[in-house]
Amino acid sequence: MNCAICKAKIEQTFLNKILGTYVKKDSKRHVVCFACQKKLSYEELVAKL
Ligand SMILES: [Zn+2]
Repeated sequence: MNCAICKAKIEQTFLNKILGTYVKKDSKRHVVCFACQKKLSYEELVAKL
């Protein structure tokens, strides 16, 4: 899967956990990578989705 903001590929751990975070918008889950999560606040992330 890819970051919803920067489209970078998001790796998964062997436990199927993503190396990123989920952001919920319009009752849909979007995946955001750590880099974007660091750069942007939650409100900014949601605004960009
Ligand atoms: Zn990203």
